Amino acid sequence: MDRIWAPWRMAYVGGPPSEGCVFCQAVEDPDSFGVLTRGVQGFVMLNAYPYNSGHLLVVPYSHVPSIVNLGTEELCGLMQLVQASMEAMERCLRPQGFNLGANIGSVAGAGIAEHVHLHVVPRWQGDTNFMSVVADTRVVPEALQACAERLKPVLTEVCEELGLTMTTKEDAHSHE
Ligand SMILES: [Zn+2]
Repeated sequence: MDRIWAPWRMAYVGGPPSEGCVFCQAVEDPDSFGVLTRGVQGFVMLNAYPYNSGHLLVVPYSHVPSIVNLGTEELCGLMQLVQASMEAMERCLRPQGFNLGANIGSVAGAGIAEHVHLHVVPRWQGDTNFMSVVADTRVVPEALQACAERLKPVLTEVCEELGLTMTTKEDAHSHE
């Protein structure tokens, strides 16, 4: 248990770990990094430094810094994963709204500026103010694990319903 979830205790603030890009590492070792599902163009993982319960990241396989660097198929595939993530959250967590977006560049608040990623954050009436959560968040591995266990099967189900092709780790590598 500890071994599986240890990487989640690495807060993203301050940048990626020195050994390399955490998203590229997640492709190599999806279970350790809490990857929930993999599509053709990218994957979905829980954020280890969440703004809110169930905060998901939608990440392309391409190690590029910006939306500008992505091709049409990648953009389409990523938005399909965003759609699937929102649908899964609606079924699982019943949020009343979402924040959806990306921080492009360190100056804009990107923790991992060299590998673009989309944030999908569920929101509820009266939940903690977005920015104050950003400013003072502690990683709670147990809560993240519980959330992952609830979301993962639902997200898989939604992806199948939407016809998003699921890939194996080996397939994902062929897209790099
Ligand atoms: Zn990367």
